[in-house]
Amino acid sequence: MKISHESDAPADIVREPGARQVTIRRLIDTTDGADRFLMSLFELGSDAATPPHYHDWEHEIYVLSGQLFVEVPRNGTENSDKIPLKQGDVVFIPRGEPHGLSTGPGDGARLLLVAPVERPPIRSVFLSDEPYQFEGPASEDLVR
Ligand code: ZN
Repeated sequence: MKISHESDAPADIVREPGARQVTIRRLIDTTDGADRFLMSLFELGSDAATPPHYHDWEHEIYVLSGQLFVEVPRNGTENSDKIPLKQGDVVFIPRGEPHGLSTGPGDGARLLLVAPVERPPIRSVFLSDEPYQFEGPASEDLVR
């Protein structure tokens, strides 16, 4: 058994294409011995985004605090439908379904994400050509 605190896991900058102002804390990882499920804490600052993407595994999301949007890309366009989420909301994203997360200016959010351990031929397909952006961690008052 491993018992830890979220502050024990470093807040790593999400460096995927198009990501903005997002960090991930790998709360339970393969290095802990997890071989089926991973648990991560995502923190999104103001005007943040995880880029629209899809992959061959599911996400299970629980919103801990703040407010954000789950973005559903519209087929064949650059636009997404933005569905607002608040504390306590739960999202299941099946494998292969395009999705992204974002916050508005002045907003922020914290969420737990559970996903299976990645195994070949699992892959991610990013729908952005933009580089990632990060200007510092989300301030406490934005995400609490
Ligand atoms: Zn995803």
